[in-house]
Amino acid sequence: MNSVNLTCVECPLGCSITVCLKDGKVESVSGNSCPRGKAYAESEVVCPKRVLTTTVKTADGRILAVKTDNPVPKADLMKLMQRINGIIANTPVKIGDIIVKNLIEGVNLVATDYLE
Ligand code: SF4
Repeated sequence: MNSVNLTCVECPLGCSITVCLKDGKVESVSGNSCPRGKAYAESEVVCPKRVLTTTVKTADGRILAVKTDNPVPKADLMKLMQRINGIIANTPVKIGDIIVKNLIEGVNLVATDYLE
């Protein structure tokens, strides 16, 4: 059995969490102060995810800030960036507008800026 030490990033408390693994599977989670920390730790050791924040071009040559509306697997970030690099957004656009629906597994790419 081996263990992984993590700092939970789900809230500002930043609990120190220890995940014990056996044969690549989670045996136990300790140090978390709430269920969110347990879920974060289990996900982080099995399939770490991150919100992808980047920019896309607009049809008139400007740059629009975007992000995924939920975390995506870290292993897919490069593949998603290649796809996003080819996207041209139409304007006007406001914060929260969906730029790409279902970018991956039900996660959308949304605008984080306003452009007229
Ligand atoms: S385990 Fe819970 S209380 Fe601790 S940092 Fe994570 S979300 Fe916050």
